[in-house]
Amino acid sequence: MRIRYFLPIALTAFAATVPVIKWKTGDRSRPLPVMVTPGEPSTQQHAGTAPSDAVQLFNGTDLSAWQQHDGKPIAWKLRDGYFEVAPGAGDIVTKQPFGDCQLHVEWATPNPPHGADQEPGNSGVYLHSLYEIQVLESNRNKTYADGQAGAIYCQYPPLVNPARPPGEWQTYDIVFHGPRFAADSKLLEPATVTLLFNGVLAQDHAMPTGPTDYMKRPPYKATPAKLPLLLQDHGQPVRYRNIWIRELKAAE
Ligand code: MG
Repeated sequence: MRIRYFLPIALTAFAATVPVIKWKTGDRSRPLPVMVTPGEPSTQQHAGTAPSDAVQLFNGTDLSAWQQHDGKPIAWKLRDGYFEVAPGAGDIVTKQPFGDCQLHVEWATPNPPHGADQEPGNSGVYLHSLYEIQVLESNRNKTYADGQAGAIYCQYPPLVNPARPPGEWQTYDIVFHGPRFAADSKLLEPATVTLLFNGVLAQDHAMPTGPTDYMKRPPYKATPAKLPLLLQDHGQPVRYRNIWIRELKAAE
């Protein structure tokens, strides 16, 4: 007889949790979503624009949202509608910290490319300044799978390789959720990264194993919920344009 009681309990333990929606179907008292004017998409010739509710981190004319990682004034080069890594000047970070976010970044690697493997067009978009989405010339240049463009560096290769040739503008559209920590600093939930690389899904809710480190996979350490975005100086004059971010609120 006893088994009759055990079986339902065992099944319940493995059952999926489906969210409960507190609103009725078609409930007209449910608040409507806020209107957002969408941006214009970019072309190779022209940078697009940001949605109306985004924080514009670079719109082609000024680098006031950024500083060098060491706190010094920005040394990267403002050019005509884009900016460029100043090799040797070091990484740059946003002055403002961000939490969970939707991030749009456009980048172009030098043409002609210089070097091979991990050299040509190496830079990186570091979410929370900790988790690197690799930037690299990956259209013709070969390197290890978890080191090419669209990889979460040294952790996850991109699902496919939609890289454009050197010199062409490429887009990263990223949805990032930061890790969650308990009051005692224990990891509750790892970070998650979804990446559309030139409009093609390259990371699908991937979970970083911890912060990016060269040829290592260190564990998470408790970090604040909001941290700056970082762009990497890896000694190559990589270009960036049209960068914007939308902080995400938890869905109801
Ligand atoms: Mg890099």
